[in-house]
Amino acid sequence: MKWLEIEAYAKVNLGLAVLSRRSDGYHEIDTVLHTISLSDRIRLEGPMRSWSLETTGLEVPSDEGNLALRAGRKLEELEGCPPFRIRLEKRIPVAAGLGGGSSDAAAVLRGAEELFGLEVGRRRLEEIALGLGSDVPFLVRGGAARGRGRGERLSDLPVLEGAWLVLATPRTAVSSAKGYEHARIGLTRSERLIRLSCSAIREGRAGELPPLLHNDLEAGVVSFCPDVAAARAALSEAGARGVVMSGSGPTVLGLARGEEEARGIVSRLKGRDFEINVARPTRGGSRITGRSGA
Ligand code: ATP
Repeated sequence: MKWLEIEAYAKVNLGLAVLSRRSDGYHEIDTVLHTISLSDRIRLEGPMRSWSLETTGLEVPSDEGNLALRAGRKLEELEGCPPFRIRLEKRIPVAAGLGGGSSDAAAVLRGAEELFGLEVGRRRLEEIALGLGSDVPFLVRGGAARGRGRGERLSDLPVLEGAWLVLATPRTAVSSAKGYEHARIGLTRSERLIRLSCSAIREGRAGELPPLLHNDLEAGVVSFCPDVAAARAALSEAGARGVVMSGSGPTVLGLARGEEEARGIVSRLKGRDFEINVARPTRGGSRITGRSGA
């Protein structure tokens, strides 16, 4: 039996514009995505006679509803991958706008390809990933990218090397479906902000990002989850340079320039009822940390 351990990184949206609602139920979006060092830990063991999943840490489904298991099964169906055991240590806040489930799925795809020498290739892996969720193709790739379409039409951006992020996650889960129900759609200003953010990142002017951070889902989510507005205000007062809700929320991220500044923000948030995490941008969506026979 072989095993492989992999860290699955969370993502944030530094910008998100909702362009239109599509006839297939999805929304056409334009978004700036970045993977960050907040991670889940996954261990794959196999081949096995049947599929199994064990989870520890934060509560997530441990049956067929878990995206990590669905990713494995999809590889079996499409690429003849043998069944394997998945051990998931869940640490990324759940239904928080951080893409945790999608990242687990992406890491299982990459990890299993590696463990069993499947040679699927990145292009095909991203295609399979889209069948699991709109954010999964980006998380197979990781780093920084602009995502259009459902978020799967990706163009790579340079990684934000020097940035630090402070994440404030209110203790109310928000489903993506509910976040999108209340979306502001088709605002010209939002599209412009995404374009400007992408140029700033591409041209190494990350210092110009703070006033450009914007999310068309934020106001709608605030209407039923006022803790998002509280998290935004708390991060700003604590000294974050730019603040925006990630994805469909409720996590709000604050940008800091360097570790000391990030730790200062965290210390000023003490006593507030949010889950606080500090993270750095990462280059990939996942990282293999160990394997049998290595
Ligand atoms: P998205 O915007 O893609 O919904 P999110 O970060 O807001 O991302 P997730 O943490 O991925 O949300 O969880 C969304 C839902 O998916 C939860 O209700 C959870 O029960 C379910 N889910 C299934 N598998 C997982 C997993 N491996 N990790 C987290 N949630 C999972």
